[in-house]
Amino acid sequence: MAAMSCLFCSIAAGEIASKQVYSDDAAVAFLDINPWHPGHTLVVPRRHTDDATSEPRLLAEIAPAVANVAQLLKDKLGADAVNLLVNSGAAAGQEVFHLHVHVVPRRADLPGVANLANREPGIDLDEVYARITS
Ligand code: AMP
Repeated sequence: MAAMSCLFCSIAAGEIASKQVYSDDAAVAFLDINPWHPGHTLVVPRRHTDDATSEPRLLAEIAPAVANVAQLLKDKLGADAVNLLVNSGAAAGQEVFHLHVHVVPRRADLPGVANLANREPGIDLDEVYARITS
């Protein structure tokens, strides 16, 4: 059941717009509005849980979606690799308290590639979305 006033529950339910790139019975995936790299996507369970440890089974339930999104981003954006990241708890940097997995496409030819914190500037979300969904 959706939690009251949960942003990602509202996005999963289609009540708040997002750039959705994938969905299945367990999860929806949409572009992060503040991407670290082009194609940075969040995979969220349809069912609410606050974080990765509050209902551990949910992380396993969305694992197929995470794998499918990673492959989609490799296929559509030509990514060489992906970072999969879950911030679980405020002290770990979690800001939205609905479990989500960051799937961040990475390319071997970019400078500073080893450091996830090296963001790419000037990412055009509409252009990236069009490439993924074409
Ligand atoms: P975290 O710090 O792991 O909780 O990550 C939350 C992420 O959600 C951040 O990377 C935000 O940029 C992203 N975010 C916040 N609001 C939205 C939104 N409405 N649509 C897409 N991504 C969002």
